[in-house]
Amino acid sequence: MLPTATPETNAYEVALENFDLAANALELEENVRAMIKYPERILCVSVPVRMDNGHIFRYEGYRVQHSTTRGPAKGGIRYHPNVTVDEVKALATWMTWKCAVVNIPFGGGKGGVTCNPKEMSIGEIERLTRRYASAILPLIGPEQDIPAPDVYTTPQIMAWIMDTYSMTKGYPVPGVVTGKPICLGGSLGRNEATGRGVFYTVLSSCEQLGIPVKEARVVVQGFGNAGSIAAHLLDSAQAVVIGASDSRIAIYNRHGLDIPKLITHKERTGSLKGFPAAEEITPEELLSLECEILIPAALENTIIEANAHTIRTRIVAEAANGPVTPEADRILDRKGVFLIPDILCNAGGVTVSYFEWVQDEQHLFWDAQDVYNRLERVMKTSFNEVFKIHVDHKVNMRLAANMLGVGRVAEAVKLRGLYP
Ligand code: NAD
Repeated sequence: MLPTATPETNAYEVALENFDLAANALELEENVRAMIKYPERILCVSVPVRMDNGHIFRYEGYRVQHSTTRGPAKGGIRYHPNVTVDEVKALATWMTWKCAVVNIPFGGGKGGVTCNPKEMSIGEIERLTRRYASAILPLIGPEQDIPAPDVYTTPQIMAWIMDTYSMTKGYPVPGVVTGKPICLGGSLGRNEATGRGVFYTVLSSCEQLGIPVKEARVVVQGFGNAGSIAAHLLDSAQAVVIGASDSRIAIYNRHGLDIPKLITHKERTGSLKGFPAAEEITPEELLSLECEILIPAALENTIIEANAHTIRTRIVAEAANGPVTPEADRILDRKGVFLIPDILCNAGGVTVSYFEWVQDEQHLFWDAQDVYNRLERVMKTSFNEVFKIHVDHKVNMRLAANMLGVGRVAEAVKLRGLYP
């Protein structure tokens, strides 16, 4: 198991702390802070599901809309045993600043169900999804709040949500979710968008720091959607991925892991376990491998006060949301590690979700290269904007990104004014 943050490390408190730092740096008025800091709506729902054995099990689910100031709420749905309302509030808050950093017309939202899909059958997951979708129905819609995949949710789950919503309306509404299968109005390039966005921000960072990508050593914690695709693209750019992990195992090969084969192995077996030409190491050893680029791509609070001292990398690219705690941030800063903050680094996912929603709304679909080109433009522009604040204001990259995101939402709320 990974070292965990202290029990009192609460992702929502981290989100609030980072907001305060940005609001202070921007010298935001108290009135504006009061309007943009906290979630607009929090819905807790009971999700009873008939299990395969005939018993009814009650799950708990959430949908949080942190902000609709700049557009409909936007954010994924997580199925995981550790989902709590505070975690969903934190993730929704980060979505608000993230959409503002990449300047797309969305606010921030997030959903989750406290469950372990790995122990459920496909039928149970479908029934859970349809019941949860029905329960959050009053909040979602293409103009209101648009869910997407997150940890352990898939395009198939998005298809069930789209179907449930559409059946209540009486006509198909593909724009109610993003990350759908292509044949239901999904976008080409959405599946790999987060990893691709991570890749572009890593390239920009290497350029700024004068680190050649060729032969740069890469370590990926969490070899799922975001992590494996970032690894694959970096591998294609001739970087050397020396370490990777999933929830069960961490593996290492100092000459580089064969990433295409590792992806196939994970698809086939569901884990990195049993991959030849690699040695097993502990999750702690993985994080402390000497490398140029470390990509935490699993969950929150994995780089914490207790292990930040052991990190030996030039760049931390936060593919995951909230992997580095504020205490660890300070330690990494002191060590001179360059951090690409989550709300910039993993914003490729929501950016292509936005492209998907635009295509659904106009019923006109783009080819994959068009999506990649647009994504590259958005990620590189956003990176440069954050980097400029980092240099001009002499603040770290996390604060710079939060200043950009919070500043844009503050500007929007001031223009809209207070209703009534
Ligand atoms: P995923 O379910 O595809 O992958 C998660 C991976 O992390 C799995 O391989 C799992 O085995 C691994 N993992 C879980 N616990 C772990 C642990 N303790 N140690 C090491 N590995 C562990 O999920 P994903 O979509 O790739 O999401 C990963 C992170 O990226 C999350 O923080 C998510 O919020 C963030 N993110 C994802 C997207 C997206 O579009 N998928 C967008 C933005 C941010």
